[in-house]
Amino acid sequence: MKLLISKESFLLIALSILFLIIPSSLIAVALSMMYGHFLIFFLGAFASIFVIGQISNIAVHKKAELDIVRIKNQLTAIINQQSVEVSCAYCKDRNLVPIKLNVRNTFECKECKQTNLIIFQFATAQITVPLENPQLGTMPLPKETNEQNTQKTQIA
Ligand SMILES: [Zn+2]
Repeated sequence: MKLLISKESFLLIALSILFLIIPSSLIAVALSMMYGHFLIFFLGAFASIFVIGQISNIAVHKKAELDIVRIKNQLTAIINQQSVEVSCAYCKDRNLVPIKLNVRNTFECKECKQTNLIIFQFATAQITVPLENPQLGTMPLPKETNEQNTQKTQIA
């Protein structure tokens, strides 16, 4: 017979109830020694701890949701960095296409809907050392010598 809840869920529920009952009982015992009415203090403490737990649960869930959104945005930014703008082989329209080095890269042209294959062609370049000019400071490397841009793509 299949259990309605998993062992882990049962353990979590049991622990949650324990963490509700034990502090509620301690608070109720302490207050009832001064004022009596154990049950009223127990129920009050139980309800208060339950509500505080629910509120902190909501906060934890909200934070987790925000973390997921942030991670998704970071992933999108990484994917966007690894994109190239190429001309469609059929209609020559420009398309921004994400590329991966470990798979066969194809894309559907946004204009003519034809499927294009991306062909990579790699080239190497010497990195030139910029001369220091005391008036201008160190000149930045030209864009072509950046490591990322030495991976030239042949536009299909
Ligand atoms: Zn096209």
